[in-house]
Amino acid sequence: MILTINCGSSSLKYQLYSADLAEVIASGIIAKIGEAGGYADHKVDDGKTRIVRDIADHQAAFTLMMENLLSPDIGVITEPAQIIAIGHRAVHGGSTFVESVIVDDQVMEGLRACSTFAPLHNPCNIAGIEEAMRLFPGTPNVVVFDTAFHQTVPQHAHVYALPYELCTDHGIRRYGFHGTSCRYVSQAAADILGRPIEALSMVICHLGNGVTIDAVKGGQSVDTSIGFGTFCGMPMGTRAGDFDPAIIFHLVKTLGMSLDEVEAICYKKSGLLGLSGLSNDMREVCEAAAAGNKRCQLAVDVFVYQLRKQIGAYAAAMNGLDALVFTAGIGENSAEIRKLVCSGLGVLGIAIDEDLNQIARNGHPDISAADARVATLVVPTDEERMIATDTLQLTMQRA
Ligand code: ADP
Repeated sequence: MILTINCGSSSLKYQLYSADLAEVIASGIIAKIGEAGGYADHKVDDGKTRIVRDIADHQAAFTLMMENLLSPDIGVITEPAQIIAIGHRAVHGGSTFVESVIVDDQVMEGLRACSTFAPLHNPCNIAGIEEAMRLFPGTPNVVVFDTAFHQTVPQHAHVYALPYELCTDHGIRRYGFHGTSCRYVSQAAADILGRPIEALSMVICHLGNGVTIDAVKGGQSVDTSIGFGTFCGMPMGTRAGDFDPAIIFHLVKTLGMSLDEVEAICYKKSGLLGLSGLSNDMREVCEAAAAGNKRCQLAVDVFVYQLRKQIGAYAAAMNGLDALVFTAGIGENSAEIRKLVCSGLGVLGIAIDEDLNQIARNGHPDISAADARVATLVVPTDEERMIATDTLQLTMQRA
């Protein structure tokens, strides 16, 4: 069996696959690590068990995961050795990691060095790998990086027009995120269209709490909306997206805010939450907008406008577009947002069939209108499966 681990700052998500990846045997989330109200949800087939318990740290979270996996009642393994490989999500691989790798001392060193780029995320990913190595001695661990897929973005698209040496000396460049999702979804889209990925120019709209718009040409990421940190590009649940950096100087120098305060504003108090004043959750924002809340309507309008603008820019950057692909929480579930985005993009040859748009999740991924020149698809993302696939491939190659 193959285990995937996604270790965040306050949660640990896991998924256990059969060795051929045909079946998801169990999955779970340990939530609110280090906070009050900790709990674990463990799923096997259709059954879900919730265990409520304070979880002090990541070590305690792993202990709880092992209890669940090995439990005589809700467990699915009898000994840790049944797990033949473990795949981990890592947020930032810097310029060091261009693809997934099997963990060794050098990889751990590289991961630690990349923590400067993702100080909130990478240390948790590292803690997860270390804990897995302790609990499953001798079992190979693979790391799959969110940034890796975007390492193909060419220099003219990833470099910032700052002093060149400042950037190269300090690793300052566009890195991009959600790469594992974009890689999975772009291949799935090509499969749905029945065309080789090498022949396609696609824009992937990963619209979750975090938002990435990705230009994928010939199967490679050629530009992507998130940059050096994780708040630029599109407005997100609580992150600002693009704004004039002069505002940061204004907030600090004129209004006397501390850099920590400004950072908290950019990452945690902006986006849908900041605009609407109500919620970071698109469903709630859309519902309130429909009920006449003007600030929520503004949040929806800004989100949709920025999205259309980015899609248009990437269609131009790739000199053409074959497919527009929606994925993640909002992209997969909100027919309304898809409709609003696509209704302004007729100039690109994008047109959707509203009946198909409504049933997209029920096995109808292609929602294009009959006369559309560009295919519009709704493709559920599956980052865990991508991690498991890389883990299986790399460990098989090594065996
Ligand atoms: P994360 O980045 O945390 O993995 P998800 O991919 O789960 O996020 O996406 C969460 C977002 O998806 C939230 O803004 C949520 O409101 C939105 N969402 C989920 N279902 C719907 C829906 N039916 N309509 C609109 N938004 C939805």
